[in-house]
Amino acid sequence: GQPGVSEVRVAMTADKVQRRIIAVGSGKGGVGKSTLSANLAVAMSRLGRKVGLVDADIYGPSQPRLLQTEGIKPRAKDSKMFPVPSPFGFGVLSMGNLIEGDKAIAWRGPMASGALGQLIDADWGDTEILIVDLPPGTGDVQLTMLQRHKPVGAVIVSTPQDLALIDATRAMQLFNQAGVPIIGVVENMAGYMCPHCGEVSDPFGSGGAEAEAARLGEAFLGRIPLTIKIRQDSDAGQPPAAGDSPEGQAFLAIARRVLT
Ligand code: ADP
Repeated sequence: GQPGVSEVRVAMTADKVQRRIIAVGSGKGGVGKSTLSANLAVAMSRLGRKVGLVDADIYGPSQPRLLQTEGIKPRAKDSKMFPVPSPFGFGVLSMGNLIEGDKAIAWRGPMASGALGQLIDADWGDTEILIVDLPPGTGDVQLTMLQRHKPVGAVIVSTPQDLALIDATRAMQLFNQAGVPIIGVVENMAGYMCPHCGEVSDPFGSGGAEAEAARLGEAFLGRIPLTIKIRQDSDAGQPPAAGDSPEGQAFLAIARRVLT
């Protein structure tokens, strides 16, 4: 028979959500997942896409710092939240905008998943692509996110280091099991150029993430070097992708690959 109105609405909502969520995940913390998420959003916005960013890293939300939205409480109307505008032309919602100051978050899984749902189901208006910066690893929040909000795909970040790679491979398996395709793998912190002598060295090795992606039959999206500029600009709320430095270009190139 004919589907009921509520069923149609659910189907439409699901379709809309499906079109626009790109999850950014990593097996470990500290590999540059938040940095990549922020710069992907900035780059896609520069490339003319209507993007938004959800910071789902409940244990260490860093997007407010990265995107200059620290201390701003989101507006809400009829229990629907509105994204906080960043100076980079797109909206952001972070767990960090929902808590007071630097209070530690000690939520249990269901509460955290509920809060994350509110950020994703906020009033994103005409946003086409919602980048979701996931917490590291393969826990409750990630699973709920994948099952309930069905991203179109996931970008996986890893350093070239063995241990980070093993965890990244695990994260990819979780996405695969949840039926979320892997868009590709990004190798971060590959190649450090000494600002004094110009010599390039590889503190965490090099090429490991590309080789692992190839072994698993996943796409390799590119490499971001380890540079002081990335760390300093990130801390200052100036994502390199907003400028035209070599680092900014590297993020733009990855954003283009994600969009194709
Ligand atoms: P994650 O989200 O995976 O925990 P972050 O994005 O917060 O990692 O990065 C951890 C730290 O490393 C931050 O201080 C960040 O500025 C720095 N960082 C990330 N990528 C780079 C890079 N390519 N070069 C230099 N510093 C980086």
